[in-house]
Amino acid sequence: MSKTTDEQFKNVVAHAKEYGFVFPSSEIYDGLSAVYDYGQNGAELKNNLKTYWWKAMVQMNENIVGIDSAIFMHPKIWEASGHVGGFNDPMIDNKDSKKRYRADQLIEDQISAYDKEGLTDQAEALQAAFDKALNSDNLGSLRELILAHDIKDPISGTANWTEVRQFNLMFSTQMGAMAENADLVYLRPETAQGIFVNYLNVQKSGRMKIPFGIAQIGKAFRNEVIARQFIIRMREFEQMEMQFFVRPGTEMQWYEHWKQLRLNWHLALGTDAAKYRYHDHTKLAHYANAAVDIEYDFPFGFKEVEGIHSRTDFDLSQHQKHSGKKMQYFDPELGEDGKPYGNYIPYVIETSIGLDRMFLLTLINAYEEEDLSTAEKQDSRTVLRLHPCLAPVKAAIFPLTKKDGLPEKAREIMANLKTEFNLQYEEKDAIGKRYRRQDAIGTPFCITVDHQTLEDNTVTIRHRDTMAQERVPADQLDRIIGDLVSWNNVLR
Ligand code: ATP
Repeated sequence: MSKTTDEQFKNVVAHAKEYGFVFPSSEIYDGLSAVYDYGQNGAELKNNLKTYWWKAMVQMNENIVGIDSAIFMHPKIWEASGHVGGFNDPMIDNKDSKKRYRADQLIEDQISAYDKEGLTDQAEALQAAFDKALNSDNLGSLRELILAHDIKDPISGTANWTEVRQFNLMFSTQMGAMAENADLVYLRPETAQGIFVNYLNVQKSGRMKIPFGIAQIGKAFRNEVIARQFIIRMREFEQMEMQFFVRPGTEMQWYEHWKQLRLNWHLALGTDAAKYRYHDHTKLAHYANAAVDIEYDFPFGFKEVEGIHSRTDFDLSQHQKHSGKKMQYFDPELGEDGKPYGNYIPYVIETSIGLDRMFLLTLINAYEEEDLSTAEKQDSRTVLRLHPCLAPVKAAIFPLTKKDGLPEKAREIMANLKTEFNLQYEEKDAIGKRYRRQDAIGTPFCITVDHQTLEDNTVTIRHRDTMAQERVPADQLDRIIGDLVSWNNVLR
């Protein structure tokens, strides 16, 4: 990582704290590793990202519905899904620093480092060897690669590594008051299983016909050994997942469909397309017959933000086997042979995006330290160029001064707008300072109420991105703000 990108990232993290987006959890007790809290502006931004996803997936698609399943589920679910037996990461310890790392990530970081240094041949060779090692399922070969490329522990600076071992990522706890007799339950490591076990309930109660989808947003928990890069890898995080149930044999067509649609969802926010790339999996999870990651170019390299997986009928078949309940769907439509397709277990295409990674991506992409210096004076501002639909505060209302009835007028204007938009009222400090504070949290509009407002009911509206100001009738504010923050701008 070059110094400048490293610094840029540090600035974003500091900004996120200073302006109420993200705080370390339990900070007054020195924090809890890899757990974070969202502050007043962070909670709004996160809610807006959820709304954007929910609208794009559920509201815009007649054949997708949303649910909200519990975090605790029957422990057998995690046996059926393969998480009890196989939800492991390959870990390696450095004998000098005594620090533990994910072996696969050390290698991925080395590939990114080669890429950054322009050593394309080395990057490609290591990628190819890495893919081969993953496909062979041989943990020893990961260690060999680490040694062969002289990958060093950033802390000790040595390549004195242990063997690679597997580590299960699920958190467990006991259900019931008597810990000794109680059942072991897990905190879900993904939201997807809550969808699979409700698939028949939703299909029957909603009279859903294949193809159809079930979406949900919710917390997931993974005891990540290495927590790094701020909210990229957390132990408690949030996922937005959708399982799309299709007729067997049609899954590749739906996989391509969702691969494209999900990238479009990201790009509709105006993010530079060059910042995104697809990463096709060569090593497939036991349940998948195709998988791709949508990756974003973070300051520390490309990282997965979302996965699109063709999960076959693995999960539903497993639940049928482990629960003894039939997971079949009756498809009355006629096939080419003129007969109904009849009973089958649907195949599934999954789209799974990490809300916290999307949040960080959004923040990094929006953050700008803008130089406003002129020949006469040095000046700068920090501005979050968030898409207006995502901005935590849609408009700030400022009385020019604290007297002459201006605060009362400003509050009256605010009262007319606040059922529709999240607004902030500010009367402290000079207008310029107030602008800067709103720029720093990404507020698209600042509305100033001055003496002229009392005469003709017009206000000035100042645009965040251009800093241009115009005078508009106060009774048109709902339309002006509404047009800019409308979901029509991103969903059509
Ligand atoms: P990684 O390889 O980075 O650990 P993964 O392949 O295990 O991710 P999935 O199981 O496919 O991730 O989960 C779907 C999405 O959930 C990921 O694309 C990511 O955005 C998010 N996610 C997964 N683990 C975490 C975590 N520990 N913290 C924050 N987000 C996460």
